[in-house]
Amino acid sequence: MQDAPRVAVIGAGPAGIYAADILIKALPEVTVDIFDRLPTPYGLIRYGVAPDHPRIKEIITALHHVLDEPRIRFIGNVDFGVDVKAEELRPFYDATVIATGADRDRDLDIPGIELPGSFGAADFVSWYDGHPDVPREWPLTATSAAVLGAGNVAIDVARILAKTADELLETEIPDNVHRGLAASPVTDVHLFSRRGPAQVKFTPMELREMDDSPNVEVVVHPEGIEFDEGSMATIRGKRSIKMCVDILQNWAAREPRGKQHRIHMHFLEAPVAILGVDGVTGLRTERQELTGDGSVRGTGEFTDWDVQSVYRAIGYRSRPIADLPFDERSATIPHAQGRILDLDGDRVPGMYATGWIKRGPVGLIGHTKKDANETIASLLADLPSLPAAEREDVLGYLHNRGIKFTTWAGWQLLDAHEIALGQPHGRARIKVVPRDHMIGFSHR
Ligand code: NAP
Repeated sequence: MQDAPRVAVIGAGPAGIYAADILIKALPEVTVDIFDRLPTPYGLIRYGVAPDHPRIKEIITALHHVLDEPRIRFIGNVDFGVDVKAEELRPFYDATVIATGADRDRDLDIPGIELPGSFGAADFVSWYDGHPDVPREWPLTATSAAVLGAGNVAIDVARILAKTADELLETEIPDNVHRGLAASPVTDVHLFSRRGPAQVKFTPMELREMDDSPNVEVVVHPEGIEFDEGSMATIRGKRSIKMCVDILQNWAAREPRGKQHRIHMHFLEAPVAILGVDGVTGLRTERQELTGDGSVRGTGEFTDWDVQSVYRAIGYRSRPIADLPFDERSATIPHAQGRILDLDGDRVPGMYATGWIKRGPVGLIGHTKKDANETIASLLADLPSLPAAEREDVLGYLHNRGIKFTTWAGWQLLDAHEIALGQPHGRARIKVVPRDHMIGFSHR
């Protein structure tokens, strides 16, 4: 092994940046290149966290400090597996860490899912967060919308749909998103959980915050507030669930407050069909009953809800990467302590995984640190026996291949430009959305 090992990290979201941080702290001589298919760093913090969650977006400050470290280079606008294959990059590095996350919607196999007006939450989140690869316009024509799922993404989607556009003006939302939301006729958003209040995946702070808007009333429909023995055991054993249940019970008992928009929360209603011919005209759910251990079964009692759009927020899914093993069932890269395994269970030398592509799309941002610790510990243990990098200049190689990559200095130019766009309006920033504009500002 040469003296100064070089490591590639694929994905400049929190998972990749935490991995790079641990690596440079553990190994004083290592250099790390962090690639991303987007021209900008920060992954789901920039393109997944809702714009009205500035507290979570503040994590960017800590990530910025890591990327500012001279031994780390950010190389954006390079789609790993497409622009550059794993085999092509390998000679430039001693090891590669895959941290590409999960940015697709899980499938929901029910009739009508393909109808216009039926959307995946991840796509909607990408739109309102100004992701360059989704269309600029979103068809916000429904007066009543359904959101499926009882996780924090469902809360984000329901809240952004229900809030008035002007409430979001203090955030970094792009102008096209503000215009789209301002024209939305929605008054009622129905959130459906297939299980009970003790089985939610919400976190208490996010749940409570849904009720903070002066324009949105959260209505909990009491007929779904049911508990079996399994539910009671969960409430006793898990503080966060007890807090969610307390909040939901309080909301179910309170009087209507007459705000202009409503989020209705329905428990024990499982989606079974999206109704409509040329577009969504309704959602059919089947009433569920608790079976004693916190699981549910269908009762055969169906309800049709008058909604004109349906957003499924039932979990994310990672995308496979060309030439790397991928377990389609779990939508993760097979691994042992972060060491990538092929489908026969054999090691793929020098290849590691961390974050959501390693463990699946669950857990808050901080949880990826634990993941990164494990993966980097494996990498450090293996490093003396890995074949050393053979080639030096990846930037020259990318340049010769005609790949218009962006850099850390380029991001700082775009960052300053977005901040300057927001300043006259008293806003922290206004995001630039089209990819070619982002690259243009990064290359000035
Ligand atoms: P999640 O927490 O796994 O929630 C998915 C929800 O979808 C669950 O309620 C699940 O119900 C439901 N679901 C799954 N399959 C379904 C089906 N076929 N029909 C009906 N419902 C179905 O996923 P997420 O909301 O995408 O969140 C992913 C991670 O990001 C979580 O760790 C979350 O906390 C985090 N996150 C955090 C924030 C924040 O502001 N802090 C914001 C967004 C996301 P079952 O439990 O019954 O399967």
